[in-house]
Amino acid sequence: MAITTLEQLSKYLDLTEEEKSWKPASVGVPLCITEHYLSLIDPKDPSDPLRRQVVPTCRENENLQSESKDPLAEVDHSHGERLVHRYMNRVAFLATDICPMYCRHCFRRRFTGNMMGSASRQETEEAALYLKDRPQIREMLLTGGDPLTLSDMQLDEMIGTFRKARPDLIIRICTRYPVSQPSRITDRLVAMFKRHDSAPFYLMTQFNHPRELTPESIRAVSLFVDAGIPALNQSVLLRGVNDDADILEDLCNKLLFNRIKPYYLFQGDMVSGTGDFRVPLRRGMEIEKELRLRLSGLGMPNYVADLPQGGGKVPLCGNYIIEEPDKEKGSWLIRTPEGETRILADS
Ligand code: SF4
Repeated sequence: MAITTLEQLSKYLDLTEEEKSWKPASVGVPLCITEHYLSLIDPKDPSDPLRRQVVPTCRENENLQSESKDPLAEVDHSHGERLVHRYMNRVAFLATDICPMYCRHCFRRRFTGNMMGSASRQETEEAALYLKDRPQIREMLLTGGDPLTLSDMQLDEMIGTFRKARPDLIIRICTRYPVSQPSRITDRLVAMFKRHDSAPFYLMTQFNHPRELTPESIRAVSLFVDAGIPALNQSVLLRGVNDDADILEDLCNKLLFNRIKPYYLFQGDMVSGTGDFRVPLRRGMEIEKELRLRLSGLGMPNYVADLPQGGGKVPLCGNYIIEEPDKEKGSWLIRTPEGETRILADS
């Protein structure tokens, strides 16, 4: 049984003043915490990194001038309510606005948790038609909300509609269920995806802290990976949750060991009401530099920002090129990860 009110929550956790004074905002996500995730929270620690991700505080009610409810300008790039076409070769289809549990740092809070429910058959068919006419679109993110809130049957129909229009489309299944409610992932669900595998699926997870990788969540992801659906993880860099090289090193190593490739580490988007979670860029870059020393290439996520006003994704790694000292010979002065220098010549 999920927790949906502060009153219910207060039976499990001693709520702080900041938590008690949270007010649901017009641009904000509802309170909903799954039983599974609640069981992972340390009730004795008011700063528990898992608690911070799901228990709202009054800080969410503060909006900064630099923030916006849609910093990625998704609305400007939308075709209908559900299809976002921001990049030339891929689209996002917002299958639903509902999630089994709501993250306080959610970047799509303009849409998520408005209780509109799943995309209608007509919306799905219109999106499929859009894709049919545009072969340059190679990938679709099936996202939301969390698309796995749809029943297996609804998903079967939705994916069947897309597959009929575009059997060659790569589909990324973007879900936090392995973290929030891993029991949702069943053999039956995975078999349903496999029935539509005329083109690959990828599972995109969001583990932000090593304690979220429980035996249940590892089992859930394994069902996909064993069926030939690769898993990649997109973490968000969050203040008081994982803004620490030791925690992220541990997370990335555990992900890799469990066949989940650390893919992205996102700088927090400039979304209204999420300022409490944002890590200063300088600190983020220090962490990235430290992780690069400690992790293998396979274990290292790309630290990126999705720039405001729909500016797109950019990598935020340090600059290792110091200068090009000899333009004729094309020799470059480059910094090593340890801070020494080397010359790399073109010929
Ligand atoms: S699961 Fe994703 S869409 Fe849902 S609240 Fe969390 S970040 Fe937002």
